[in-house]
Amino acid sequence: MKNRVLSIVGILIALQCLSNSVFVEHKILVLDAFNVIEQQIPKKSKEISKDRTVKYFGKYHPMPIVNVKPEGWLKEILTRQKDGLGIHHAESGYPFNTCLWAGTIPTLKNVHTPSWWPYEQCAYMVDGLYRCGLAIGDTVLTNLGQRNHDFILNNPQDNGQLGLSLINNTQWPFTVFVRSLMANYDASHNPAILDALTKHFLSLHNDKWDGRDVCIIESMCWTYSHTKDKRLLAKAEHIWADFQTQKSKTGTVFKLANMINSDSVHGHGVTCAELGKQPAILYLYTGKEVYKKAAEGFFKALIRDHMLVDGVPSSALTEMENLGGKHAESPHETCDIIDYSWSMGYLLQATGNSDWGDKIERCIFNAGFGAISKDFRSLQYFSSPNQIIAASKNPISAKEHLEYGDRWAYRPGGEPACCSGNVHRMFPNFLSGLWLSDNENGIVASQYAPNVLHAKVGKNQVDATVSELTNYPFYGKIVFKLNVSKATKFPFTFRIPEWAEGATYSINNGKSIEVKAGGFHTINQVFKSGDEIVLNLPLQVKKETPVAGGVSLTRGPLLFSLNIKEDAKPISYQLKTSANFPAWEIKPATAWNYTLSLKDMFEKSDIKVVESKLSGFPFDTDNSPIKLIVQGKPILKWNSTKVSPSLPNADFETGEAQSLELVPSGSTRLRLSIFPIELGK
Ligand SMILES: [Zn+2]
Repeated sequence: MKNRVLSIVGILIALQCLSNSVFVEHKILVLDAFNVIEQQIPKKSKEISKDRTVKYFGKYHPMPIVNVKPEGWLKEILTRQKDGLGIHHAESGYPFNTCLWAGTIPTLKNVHTPSWWPYEQCAYMVDGLYRCGLAIGDTVLTNLGQRNHDFILNNPQDNGQLGLSLINNTQWPFTVFVRSLMANYDASHNPAILDALTKHFLSLHNDKWDGRDVCIIESMCWTYSHTKDKRLLAKAEHIWADFQTQKSKTGTVFKLANMINSDSVHGHGVTCAELGKQPAILYLYTGKEVYKKAAEGFFKALIRDHMLVDGVPSSALTEMENLGGKHAESPHETCDIIDYSWSMGYLLQATGNSDWGDKIERCIFNAGFGAISKDFRSLQYFSSPNQIIAASKNPISAKEHLEYGDRWAYRPGGEPACCSGNVHRMFPNFLSGLWLSDNENGIVASQYAPNVLHAKVGKNQVDATVSELTNYPFYGKIVFKLNVSKATKFPFTFRIPEWAEGATYSINNGKSIEVKAGGFHTINQVFKSGDEIVLNLPLQVKKETPVAGGVSLTRGPLLFSLNIKEDAKPISYQLKTSANFPAWEIKPATAWNYTLSLKDMFEKSDIKVVESKLSGFPFDTDNSPIKLIVQGKPILKWNSTKVSPSLPNADFETGEAQSLELVPSGSTRLRLSIFPIELGK
């Protein structure tokens, strides 16, 4: 009976979306919508903005995603994304089996969720898939994005607002969607996008701005940066000022004075990641120090109180999806991996502090890869640095209709569906953040991965291509090969991570020059085609103590975890699964309850870094080219049926020492990354 009801719902969805697609096609065929919108914009708005310049106060500028092409492992994961849940996004279930933003998303009967939910979820999906398409040149995905963009641009409301009137009560879903329009503009330079967005922003109300609605500031400032229409910047500042007057729980956390003081932060993980960056964005265009200090102070507190060892703040322990402190058993929501790393990019642009780049890498390489199956056919909603089961009953109670299964299970889709959409933004956003530009026509290598950059450099805006050849983060050697249409002087800046003591670089096989760890280094000279810069970042194994009584090992940006072998079975009791896209119940097939003999290990240097030649995809489970062999002992009475067990008391008994194999955390689905410390060690 249940299945029958579901299939009827499926048919209704298909019919409704079909009618929407026909409608969309009709509109595209009959109207040249871009011209129509162009005519609707009063000439005055363009005249007002004439002769005005946009001052930019950030240290670095973002690089359009179309300028950076992935290579190596990064191209592989983006291709797996496309071939996996990208093209097959309907496998993630409702609302991704609908028309997305190209029409009205049907509601599910008997499931009472806020009406904006499916629009938020589909906005994540459209943004992620469109950017993935741009990244790897896949027209199926870019056409999907374009179809959604066209529908929204072609169907403004009478007052100029974009998006359907049924979600008029919140700007949050549109805030998410507009990021894909921003990417479209980067690729197309279509002025209709700027005109339509200007009309939209100017039509918005003036007061009672609160919660995630305030995040519309991001795209408002972005549009200002392209149109020079100062009304948008004024409105963005006004929205933040109005938010400051709100007496809600969220409003209190984001009072500027509290942010600057790094007062303790509480609230929803996504809300904090998204709202915390807004003052940094306002700083980029106003230069007001108070905004920059607020964003820095806020994230300092967030990191101080909630950062987990795999690079993402916790966002569920006692309260669903809320910041949950630093505990060995703390998990995070997958949305936070994406939103947090996206926010860090703005902090980096505003401050030029290389630490934000370190944090983005740590987040993506560890928590990011850890939350997905490496074939990009399933993902987790919640994930943890210590995760010994990925299917057991969720220990946090949830409303029944929201919980089709366990949020720790790897599955193609779940409820709520936010993470299933948002996960598609992870690698495209990481790609676009690899490079920045500076205020002197130079380029900045901000994070590292194999890619090719195309940019204009120097005073005369000469065409330049930089091929970044590397197998980072597994190896520390990064080679930049330059090709310029004409020899020209420009600053070439690269990041030296905080952990990279003894880092060196050389130009054209010249003298090796040591550079200080923890900052950006600039070479400002005339570059010609064929020039080569080789950067060597020493990857040393380091010991960290992320929680009381626990210890972790890192090597550069990679966190290392016990390689727990999987007993993995496809599960059929969840709704959003199919034969080709199963959900998984994963239990440990080998022991996980170990302590590391750390003191001995570090004194005797009996840790072995085993390097093998990179073959295939280095984040595939059991295919890492780097492994650590360390000494450890089983903890005799440490048992648990939980996803993420509490650490035992320090007076635990141990068995015989043995060699353990640790692998990059991101390559695992079951892992122990925080090891209990034995008393007296
Ligand atoms: Zn989510």
